[in-house]
Amino acid sequence: MIHPELALPLLPLVLDRPPFELCRALDQEGIPFCLQAPGLPAGRFVLASSRAGCAYPLQNGQCLVDLDEVVECLGDDPWRQLSDTRSHRAQWTLGPLPVREEVSLIDKRDVRRRLMIALREAIERRGGVWLKVASCPFPYRAAFCLRIDHDDYHAEDFHALLHALRGQERAVSHYVCAADFMRHPEALARLRGWHVGGHGFHHHTYADYEQNLRNVSRGWQVLERAGLSPDGFVAPHGRYPAALGEVLKNLGISHSSEFGLAFDEAPFEPSPGGVLQIPVHPVCLGVVLEAAASSGIEPAAVIEPATRYFEQWIANRYEDGEPVLLYDHPTGRWGHYPQIVRAMLAAARDCGLLWRATMAEQARWWRARQKISLRVLRDGDEYVVFANGLPSNYKIAVEYWRGEHVAQMPLAEKVLRFSPSSLAYQRRGQRKRFQPVRVDRAEGLRGRVKRFLDWEKSTPIEEIDSSTVSGWMKRTLRRWQG
Ligand SMILES: [Zn+2]
Repeated sequence: MIHPELALPLLPLVLDRPPFELCRALDQEGIPFCLQAPGLPAGRFVLASSRAGCAYPLQNGQCLVDLDEVVECLGDDPWRQLSDTRSHRAQWTLGPLPVREEVSLIDKRDVRRRLMIALREAIERRGGVWLKVASCPFPYRAAFCLRIDHDDYHAEDFHALLHALRGQERAVSHYVCAADFMRHPEALARLRGWHVGGHGFHHHTYADYEQNLRNVSRGWQVLERAGLSPDGFVAPHGRYPAALGEVLKNLGISHSSEFGLAFDEAPFEPSPGGVLQIPVHPVCLGVVLEAAASSGIEPAAVIEPATRYFEQWIANRYEDGEPVLLYDHPTGRWGHYPQIVRAMLAAARDCGLLWRATMAEQARWWRARQKISLRVLRDGDEYVVFANGLPSNYKIAVEYWRGEHVAQMPLAEKVLRFSPSSLAYQRRGQRKRFQPVRVDRAEGLRGRVKRFLDWEKSTPIEEIDSSTVSGWMKRTLRRWQG
């Protein structure tokens, strides 16, 4: 005889005609969910929009959580915000320096966090539970990686950076732009044994499908011919046009990493079945040096404050259990100032439970995590967790949340039973995040023309595709410029 309270699981959440963005947000969060279907109900809580109506009637014992009500208290429409793909020019202040970069228009991490808090509160009010698969393998709290974008080759800076990174193969990912490196096979040979991914052939992210396909594939082939096994891609300038997403998906690339679609956010699929996006922190030493140059400040004067900034950022993100992913370039930056890399690695070492893993490894973990399914039931004062799809190569943890407090438990077996009163809790996610502000003006004629032409100077003139009007104009203008 089944105890009546064990009859319907508190998790998974059951979704009826959900927006894709809700599935994506729950997947990032690690909250188990499934779609409502005829037959035996999979869970007690059904999430549906009362305005749109349910596809299936509620079954005995099921309870409706109206998504419209949850969303209303947020003020904005999170589905629209999370599906937004636009970027804009944003600014942060780092001490007296205004640091600028073109990043995702919407702070999707912030939108998702507020959405998840509203949903958790709605579920908890109805007697439910917020229990999720941890974002890292047990016992880790957050994932760390230094991403190196090799746009061009500068022997001295390249070797200085690799020297500073010695012994850190597990925590570093290299992405190589091939046009310059194909002339330096000795440099590519030095990257054997590291995780290497593609960064295109020419250093440009094109607006259309065909040119991206050509550029990504050509860069990839150079790396393969050099005896490397590229895995993953990062787009030049951190842009992520839809055409690039399609190319990466069709080429079967495991992951990509930009800040034009989202920043400081957990990995996600931009579209159903899309390439895993692993967003990166948009502030790098490079933009700090650019800000210094435009303010007339000597580069050497900003190294110390920039180092403090990155050390503090690593410590804060770790405390909050958020991804710790930083990027920069060897030439004139990390290779020229390797002390900053050493300081960042030391700061990461100070975080005892920081998972140092390449981005390829993080992508593999994320895919394994997506296959785990949990069912959670209440039995008196205890919860019982039934797990399926546990990977054999990672240790899993689940997190039980109560407000801003979280307790982590290893999930070694397929069944876990616990009492919330016997757990040790930590407080998380209270820190105010470092927010960018918008600085761009409405796009003038010049900006519109540049966008129409997909303007850039990385592609050699003779390689510009002139079969379209915009391509022909771009080639003509580039010729005039000489
Ligand atoms: Zn680059």
